[in-house]
Amino acid sequence: MAHICGRFAPSPSGELHIGSLLAAVGSYLAARHAGGRWLLRIDDLDPPRVVPGAADAILRSLEVHGLCWDGEVLWQSQRGEAYHAALDTLRAAGLIYPCACTRRELTAIARAGVDGPIYPGTCRHGLPANRGARAWRLRVADTRIDFCDAIQGQQSQQLAQAVGDFVVQRADGLVAYQLATVVDDAFQGVTQVVRGVDLLASTARQIYLQRCLGLPQPDYAHLPLLVDARGAKLGKQTGAKPLDAARASDNLRRVLTALRLPPPAELHGAPPATLLQWAVAHWNPAALAGVDACAVP
Ligand code: GLU
Repeated sequence: MAHICGRFAPSPSGELHIGSLLAAVGSYLAARHAGGRWLLRIDDLDPPRVVPGAADAILRSLEVHGLCWDGEVLWQSQRGEAYHAALDTLRAAGLIYPCACTRRELTAIARAGVDGPIYPGTCRHGLPANRGARAWRLRVADTRIDFCDAIQGQQSQQLAQAVGDFVVQRADGLVAYQLATVVDDAFQGVTQVVRGVDLLASTARQIYLQRCLGLPQPDYAHLPLLVDARGAKLGKQTGAKPLDAARASDNLRRVLTALRLPPPAELHGAPPATLLQWAVAHWNPAALAGVDACAVP
């Protein structure tokens, strides 16, 4: 059996907050419970979204919370060659094509899918006259992608109907998240992807890309999102505060409680490493079956 390997892949668009700590802890516990490795990747692919200093702050915050990763950190900003090699492979196989459509045009004409407008196939058979290429899209066959998510259960997505041909290289020249993720997960030898349920709808696209590129398919588990009192996802956009390093044990206790692993009373006041050690031994994704949202404890 291949060795288990998990990962945490934050985007450095801000510091860690309690919601991103939950994803870090969930992926860490799943990997360590299985005796596996846990890797760290910084998804700094999108320069306009990178906040100076955020990546360093994330690394420090993980350390303060006792979340020690294995090996070197992988930085997506340094992986351009690998992404372009994958694009070349897809292009050589005739699987991608240039697209002239703007977001505004698509929003006006296309039906809404699971993640934005469903691409209506406008440029699938060639660019319209007098229009230049902007993005590159992957030609999606009319197949259903089925997979079993270790937390959210059996999933099925008819990719052509839910998303349509999707972007692998953006109009600004940057490689799309979906492509970078599958290239890096394969490069890092990741066997289990544990992340927030907001990325569940992306998974079928990632599995499809893995098949197109001949890459192995990891196991998937999508963790519940932390939501505020009004049910809104807690995140940088909703003003979630950076974690206070002085309250690391308390932060972990809250996250573990949300993961249905409330630490026992005798661990009150225990340091992060002790809390995590206990949680690694008790990790049980079945306790979260079907849970996609959780109020901040
Ligand atoms: N970088 C992505 C984020 O912070 C997560 C990528 C992933 O886990 O696949 O939302």
